[in-house]
Amino acid sequence: MSADTYLELVNGGVTGTLAKKLGLPRPTPLRRFTPGQALVDGPVLVLGPGKDADTLARYLSGTDDAGAGWDLDVRRHADEGTRFAAAVLVLTEVEHPQDLSAPLLALSAVLKTLARHGRIITVSRPARDDQAPALAAARQGVDGALRSLAKELRGGATGNGLVVADGVPVDAPAVLGGLRFLLSSRSAYVDGQLLAIDSEAGALPEDWDRPLAGRVAVVTGAARGIGAAIADTLARDGATVIAVDVPAAGEALTAVANRVGGTALQLDVTAKDAGERLLRHALDRHGRLDIVVHNAGITRDKLLANMTPEKWESVLAVNIAAQLRINEALLTSGELTDAPRIVSLASTSGIAGNRGQTNYAASKGGVIGMVRATAPLLAPFGGTANAVAPGFIETEMTARMPTLTRQVARRLSSLQQGGQPVDVAEAVAFLASPPAGGIVGQVLRVCGQAMVGR
Ligand code: NAD
Repeated sequence: MSADTYLELVNGGVTGTLAKKLGLPRPTPLRRFTPGQALVDGPVLVLGPGKDADTLARYLSGTDDAGAGWDLDVRRHADEGTRFAAAVLVLTEVEHPQDLSAPLLALSAVLKTLARHGRIITVSRPARDDQAPALAAARQGVDGALRSLAKELRGGATGNGLVVADGVPVDAPAVLGGLRFLLSSRSAYVDGQLLAIDSEAGALPEDWDRPLAGRVAVVTGAARGIGAAIADTLARDGATVIAVDVPAAGEALTAVANRVGGTALQLDVTAKDAGERLLRHALDRHGRLDIVVHNAGITRDKLLANMTPEKWESVLAVNIAAQLRINEALLTSGELTDAPRIVSLASTSGIAGNRGQTNYAASKGGVIGMVRATAPLLAPFGGTANAVAPGFIETEMTARMPTLTRQVARRLSSLQQGGQPVDVAEAVAFLASPPAGGIVGQVLRVCGQAMVGR
């Protein structure tokens, strides 16, 4: 993996001063999660016109019984003298675009002094075609304002939103879990995203630091890169991990499995019986299977004009056909019945398209379609299927890009840098966690608000 030398230079002493004088972009190194870290480092402003804001303020401050343990320093009024670490805008009760003025203008007063790595989070309801036009305008307005605000933030701060379906209370598990994820440094590279919450399903964990305790997870492509980080992160959160990769990566795979206290399974995911073998390993060695992370993926980039059948077919086989076949085997086995979670790796290329990647984007667009259609099949068991779409992540896959393309790709996001494998892993761990039960068939982008796609 190649280091981001530019990021280091513009944050160095002499070179940093020079970069400032030259007016060069100066990305801030992001703060990542370490166990024991405070959820938020400073006061949290909760703004909003209705009772939902009161409910969330009570929860965050720990004065609500159910919120015991969060104990954040919650304030209800913007005050220019305070350096806020985060602001939560509860906009669930807006009815007209004019209702957005007061909370957003109140927020404006604190932005200049927002702490480094600050967090702005909107909580709103979805706009729908069957609503009164003014209501739909107000709700869709939140989307536009949030995405724009995220582009204005500096100092490693991020802006994201939760869009909570009508009828789902704001203290539903997925809202609270989502808030906690977005407030924390686990979401360091998630920026400019609005995540839909569809239902009250899900459960609050007994221990927010080990939400996956007692769960057994399979991670494919776990020998290196993003997959290895996912294995580490799920294990840190309490899961028992089965690390899967091709036999050729056997040594690295064993090292990962040993590091996380899990087991290794050498398996090519394109094998016809991959699903059955995964399941047998999980049941024989660990007695159950709860979480499946489809991370194994390959690129074979070529313009379509120069594409070979081998390059096209191998990418489709690993990145989508294998996931479909494995899911089918698991779903028909009748063994995944206790709130199972499937999380698949998509890509911003599958959303926005990318020159030279028709095969890859077909497979990653396919992943997005697949999780949407798979989610209803898991719903009867309290299960979910979702996708995580990474943007530019610093791995061996991206280290193979030409130097100039790589440098440019890193800067083309609001956070002006590439993400780390752990950033993707944190999003996967969140979607695999019990509180995320109300998030179904969604695509969570981990891209630093990349300028491509929506
Ligand atoms: P990587 O190439 O570093 O690692 C991929 C792993 O998958 C390797 O260990 C490889 O051996 C394994 N693998 C490949 N084919 C397999 C097969 N048939 N069976 C079992 N294992 C197999 O890639 P990465 O950058 O860590 O990417 C991980 C996932 O994230 C992929 O699905 C990729 O498409 C996606 N992604 C990555 C980026 C990025 O910027 N790195 C961006 C978007 C999406």
